[in-house]
Amino acid sequence: MAKNTPPPLCLKCSKPMSFMLVKTGGRKFRCSHCDVPAPPKAPEVKNLLSSELKPPV
Ligand SMILES: [Zn+2]
Repeated sequence: MAKNTPPPLCLKCSKPMSFMLVKTGGRKFRCSHCDVPAPPKAPEVKNLLSSELKPPV
């Protein structure tokens, strides 16, 4: 077993990621800088909703 296995680096910010438990089960490396909770509505959803709000032409 390796004693000090360096964590994988984040693809976005190139910082070492943290090994965290995930609610869905299991563990995975996550970047504390980039893996922030997703906003309630993604831009695509927002666009979809706004387009649906428009009356049909
Ligand atoms: Zn990152």
